[in-house]
Order: sequence, then C-alpha cells, then structure tokens
Amino acid sequence: MAYDFDLFVIGGGSGGTRCGRIAAGLGARVAVAEERFWGGTCVNIGCVPKKLMVMASEYGAAVEDAAGFGWSIEPGAHDWASLIAAKDREVGRLAPIYRRLLEGAGATVFDARAQLVDAHTLEVGGRRVSAERIVIATGGRPLRPEFPGAALTVVSDDVFALESLPERIVVLGSGYIALEFAGIFAGLGRHVDLVYRQPLPLRGFDGDIREAMAEALKAQGIHQHPFNVVERVEDAGGARRVLLSDGSTIEAELVFAAMGRGAYTQGLGLEAAGVGLRENGSIPVDEQNATNVANIYAIGDVTDRLNLTPVAIAEGHALAERLFGAGRSWHLNAVATAVFTTPPVATVGLTEEDAATREAVDIYLSRFTPMRHTLSGRPRKTLMKLVVSQATHKVLGAHMLGEDAPEIIQGLSVALNAGATKQDFDMTVGIHPTAAEEFVTMRTRAREARPPEAGAAP
Ligand code: NDP
Repeated sequence: MAYDFDLFVIGGGSGGTRCGRIAAGLGARVAVAEERFWGGTCVNIGCVPKKLMVMASEYGAAVEDAAGFGWSIEPGAHDWASLIAAKDREVGRLAPIYRRLLEGAGATVFDARAQLVDAHTLEVGGRRVSAERIVIATGGRPLRPEFPGAALTVVSDDVFALESLPERIVVLGSGYIALEFAGIFAGLGRHVDLVYRQPLPLRGFDGDIREAMAEALKAQGIHQHPFNVVERVEDAGGARRVLLSDGSTIEAELVFAAMGRGAYTQGLGLEAAGVGLRENGSIPVDEQNATNVANIYAIGDVTDRLNLTPVAIAEGHALAERLFGAGRSWHLNAVATAVFTTPPVATVGLTEEDAATREAVDIYLSRFTPMRHTLSGRPRKTLMKLVVSQATHKVLGAHMLGEDAPEIIQGLSVALNAGATKQDFDMTVGIHPTAAEEFVTMRTRAREARPPEAGAAP
C-alpha cells in the first residue's frame, strides 16, 4: 500500500524536530505536526528561557561582589516585565527556526494537533493522512498537585508569563525545576520558602552534593522546610496561606508547584492504534525506541526514561538514521546532567551510593571557597567529587556543585564515556588557576565505600 508519508512525527519539540529533519535529509517523505510551540518545552517554556532567567538572577549578586574588587556600584532595581519581554524576543526568534529547519529539509509541517485513527492513519488539521511509520514525540506537561487548594498554585508553564513577580513565593518540591526557580526568585531579591518532603533536596543525586545543595540554598537566603508536604492552600484575602504537615503556616503571594512532569499522551488516539501505556501515561519502548506496535516509535520525555532534551535529540537522530540511513548506535550510559541553581550542580556517572551497592569504590573529595569569593566575601563553596572503582580504577562518577559546574562536567563526561581511569586523570596537567584543575589534582582518598558484606547485619 502507498502511504502519504514514510514518516509522521507527532510533536515539533527538540526530539521530534531532529528526527523529522534527519529523516527528511535522508530522502524520506516526512511530516511533522505541532499543536502548540515549535521547539517544544525546552525552547519555549523550559531550558532556554529558564537559563536566561537564571542569568538575570545572578547580576544582583555580581554587583554586590564587585565591591570586594574595588568597585563601588549601587545595586539597582530589577524590572521583571523587561526581563520577560527580552526573554520573549529571544524565544520568538528561536522557535520559528525549528519549523524552518524542517521545511528546509523538505518535510511537510502541520501547525495542528495530530491524532491517531489506527496504526497507519492520522487526523491532522482537518485532514486524514496515512504514514508507514509514526513517531510519538509529544513530551511531557507539569503535573498539577492534588491537595485542597491546588487551584491556587501555579506550575512552570505559567511562571514564564507572569506579569509581575510578587515579594513572597513558596516553591514546592526539590527536584530540578523547584531548585532552579527557587534560585531565580531568590536571586531577584524575593523571599523564598522551599517545601520538600525529603531530608535533603535533589533525591537521587549524590549524597555529598545533596548536603552541599542544602547549604548553598541556605547561603542564598532560601528558607527550607524539609520533611514537609502541603496539607492545603487557602486564599487569604488575595495572598495564599500554605499549611504544612508539621503544623506550620506560610503566607505568600505566589505558590509555585514543581512536583514532577507527566508524559503528554492524553487524547492522541494511542488506544485506537493499540499502543500500550504505563499506568502513569508514558509509553514503554525498547532500546530501539520501538513501542509494542511494529511501525510506531516514541522518543524523548513521553517515554519517561531520561527526561532531558539532549537525550530526546539523540534518540530522534539515531532513530531517523536507523530507519532511513546507515544506522548509528548511540549509547546513553554516562549522560551528564545539570541543575542550574546558583551555584549550579552538574554530574555524570554513578553516585557514591549507587556505585557502592555494586562494588568497592574510592572517594575523592575537594571542598573549597572559589577564588572569586575569597575577595567578594560571599559565603559560597564549591564541592567536587570523584567515585573510582577499586577493581578497574575507572572513574565511575564525577560530581560538582560550584560555579561553571555544567561547563566542567560536560568535558569530563567525554573522559568517563571513554572509560578514563583515575591514573588518566592524575596524568592530566591542570589549567591554573581554575576550579576545574581540582579534578586532576585530587590525590588523597577521602574514604572508601563498598557493598555490605553478604550476611552482615543491615
Ligand atoms: P523532579 O522529578 O525532578 O522533581 C519532582 C519534585 O516534586 C521532587 O522533589 C519530588 O519529591 C516532589 N514531589 C513529587 N510528588 C510529590 C508529592 N505528591 N508530594 C510532595 N512532593 C512531591 O521533577 P521536576 O518537575 O523538577 O522536573 C521534571 C523533569 O524535567 C526532571 O526530572 C528532569 O528530568 C527534567 N528537567 C531537567 C532540567 C535540566 O536538565 N536542568 C530542568 C528542568 C527539568 P521526591 O524527591 O520526594 O519524589
């Protein structure tokens, strides 16, 4: 049977755009449908505008820090509306580029919602089209909380378009989004309360990093409420009253819930096509991004594996090449990731806790005041850490909380992916004076960690 398209991609975000563009470049007849934003979450209401806002939030402290270097500059006022306008201009420049890239590669684009009718048929923009293969790349959406008064909270989709930023803000959660926005708000001079249910923020990250993060948040003036969940939120005459499980109450003008994201699969017609879903709505796929239906694939956040833009892009690129080109294997073993707090966290490979469940490891640690803050006087510390296999001497994990951590760890992730050993690190000459050189000059083991002896008491 002749299909209208060789490949139909639902979703014009980072992953879908890459997949469609590469497939079209390889000669496939491709269509991509996007109902909301070309470029998807990352470009419009995620990574890109978030990072611009982090940058905005760091100027205030930089002005204060300049005093330690002999400058006399009076910190001025921050204009939220002009930041949002500047951010909107940049996003407005970027988003159409994604659409143009697809058209330039010869793909057909639909500014419309696409819905599956069966495994080879879609409804899109009032048309019915057929495709030999279909890729679901619809990403995720913020999860709205369920406690009483949840309607009085906002989520990340809303916060990028706020007309003004109030004085007192409560942030719920302690994952990527909660911490990044707590940092943005605090950097812009707001009073921030951070409520989370764990003893420390960033569950799943290395333990030393989590402790250092709690200290960094405190140093930034963020008021933390660990071991807490929200009982309810009430309207208090325009303000919000947040009641916590420890019985305390916080008043604020804005309550920002950053309590996870969920796969966006509702109303796509996946049931009609026979695509199986997990209970949380995400699409299970195999190593080749194939779903349970032979001609339907899924990439990126909708699969709820490693919910990171560069992973979606890698998956989309590799899938297009597998389907229409020579095929490329792309391994996602040691994927570096960063949390853009102030200072940021970046990490690649295994945490100490994970590594020590598998084998005996040596831990190398360095904590110091970065050079800038010896003069600025700002109480900001850097933590760097290596997790090294005792058996193979390979560096299994590299973790950092400190200025430029994402830039530094990106480089180290090449070394970890290439299987570098601690001796390779030791044989590397550093760049002086930098923070990064610490990663190649850590010589003294801080401690070892190993799996509990079999049969030992827990
Ligand atoms: P995360 O999964 O990172 O964090 C969710 C937070 O909400 C956690 O602190 C979690 O607590 C808390 N939480 C969830 N449910 C409840 C509940 N019922 N009661 C109380 N607390 C709750 O999600 P985010 O929304 O921050 O981000 C979603 C994903 O997007 C990230 O995991 C990441 O993959 C991606 N992302 C990446 C970024 C980057 O690369 N810089 C930036 C932003 C997002 P607990 O830990 O106890 O479960």
